Amino acid sequence: MSFLRRLPGRWSAAFSRSLRLRVLALTLVVFVGVALPAFGAFVWIVDTSSERLSTLFAERQVLYDRYRGLGPLAREVALAETLARSPTILDWTADEVHAAKKARGLGALDHFRTAFADGSYFLVHARSGNYYFSDGSSGSQADRPRYVLSRENEADAWFYRTLALGPGCRLNVNNDRALAVTKVWINCVVQSGGEPVAVIGTGLDLSSFVADVVNTGQAGVETLFVDGSGAIQAIRDRGRIDFASLTKEVSERKTVFQLIDKAEHRSRLASMMADLRAGRSDAATAFLDIGGRTMLVGVGHLDRLGWFNVTLMDVDAIVGRGLFAPLGVLLALVIVAAALLITLFFKRSVLDRIAETEGALRRIEDGDFALPTAARDADEIGRLTIALDRMARAVRENTERLEGTVRQRTEQLERLAFLDSMTGIANRRGFAATFKAEHTSARESGETIGLLLLDVDLFKSINDSRGHQAGDEVIVEVARRIARVVEDREHCARWGGDEFVVLVRGSGEAVMETGRRLLDALRGSSVMLSDGTEIRVTTSIGGHVATADDTLSTATARADVALYEAKRAGRNRIVLRPPEAPDHREGAAKVA
Ligand code: GH3
Ligand code: MG
Repeated sequence: MSFLRRLPGRWSAAFSRSLRLRVLALTLVVFVGVALPAFGAFVWIVDTSSERLSTLFAERQVLYDRYRGLGPLAREVALAETLARSPTILDWTADEVHAAKKARGLGALDHFRTAFADGSYFLVHARSGNYYFSDGSSGSQADRPRYVLSRENEADAWFYRTLALGPGCRLNVNNDRALAVTKVWINCVVQSGGEPVAVIGTGLDLSSFVADVVNTGQAGVETLFVDGSGAIQAIRDRGRIDFASLTKEVSERKTVFQLIDKAEHRSRLASMMADLRAGRSDAATAFLDIGGRTMLVGVGHLDRLGWFNVTLMDVDAIVGRGLFAPLGVLLALVIVAAALLITLFFKRSVLDRIAETEGALRRIEDGDFALPTAARDADEIGRLTIALDRMARAVRENTERLEGTVRQRTEQLERLAFLDSMTGIANRRGFAATFKAEHTSARESGETIGLLLLDVDLFKSINDSRGHQAGDEVIVEVARRIARVVEDREHCARWGGDEFVVLVRGSGEAVMETGRRLLDALRGSSVMLSDGTEIRVTTSIGGHVATADDTLSTATARADVALYEAKRAGRNRIVLRPPEAPDHREGAAKVA
């Protein structure tokens, strides 16, 4: 693996030596490879789900706020519109100073006053600027104007602006000059003969509207009402309300757009409002950045009032991500458990069995051929283990066979080393071992042994006259005849060239006896050669009865002296040197 080469030396060595480590690393890599996308998918599911849930929630909330906002205001507007169109009011506004018309007009106003939620009304005549107001209290002198509005007074600008806008009702959030309270004013234009002649309406206490409609009490949710230009008309925080929007330039107003961080999000909200105004949907939602946080913004249209209700929602506060925590923990547990199970399975079904097989092979090296238990399963590793075991057994059998053959060959070679290759009887080396053993055994049992040294007479002449092949054949025949003569407890060997040696157990008599038999066996009949001719052969023998302190060389030297004597005496005879005789001539037994 190429990545192994880039690892530091020690790690690389550990990796290349341990399959277990590599499997562990691979499992870790696969685990991370699975866990990361799974985590990504989980986060995506959580995000998508909470987005869907909050969008659903937002749409509901928007419709609910719209309904709650529209309800009280729309009722007031409807009442005010009816009042603005009533003939009594039209009569009076056409002729303000007419006492009877005025009395009827004021009567109608007081009748409607009790129907208005605020229990108050106002009417301003366009021509005179006279402002009539009553809230039903005894102090309010309803039949007289409270004050006179003037174009010069900035506080009265709302009136001239409303007149200029033409027929219909408009909402304006403003302070009440007399009562010093903030009201949502419903201003309806009274039209007579195509001319705006008065503005009539009522006010709704803003603080109670805010308390009833704006303060939802829902965590993470803020409701506000804005007018068609986005100017904030009702919100929990009073300081953010744009008062008297009606009389201000759009650029001077405190709008909902100013709460939004990004220009693209501002235009997004504007297009949502445009869609709602066009009636393309009942509620619109979007994720917009507000005050550095992404909020879910829902918008509804209070179509009859020209206002919009806007709901700002903190998704995390509404749909807590903690809801999904158990699911995440479960997913993590499943992945970890899967990784552990796979690792455990691989460890038990592969790594442990390979380790077991490895251990078994080590034991096989030491000569223990027990079959590893991993071989029990008939799968790849099992079959491999059985094959290894079979191979090890074959190696052992072959080794044993080879060792046996080597042992056999060594024994043969050892045997050959003690034998004379031409005659098949023992050679000088073989005889040395026999002599030593027999000499020791005889000494222990108080017996004696004797040596007979034989030499073919005038052998050179055989070689010379009949050839070396014939000489060899004579040597082989002589050896065969000697071997035939020697008894069980006697041993013979080729001493070298045409010389042979025979070991006899017993005293001088026994030695002489064997010597005689040898002489006879050798001269008794001619030797038949392979070329069909015959040849007569005689031998001379020197005998010696070994003393306790004799060695092979001293014993053969003495026998050789006796042999020399036999040759000198005319060959074809035996001369025995008695052990005790200091001079070989004295007492020497000679047989011719
Ligand atoms: P002597 O009676 O005195 O023993 O006379 P000899 O001719 O036998 O003399 P000697 O024993 O000294 O000579 C032995 C000869 O045997 C000398 C050598 O050339 C011959 N010889 C030794 N080994 C072999 C052999 O394996 N094959 C043959 N063909 N000749 C051998
Ligand atoms: Mg000879």
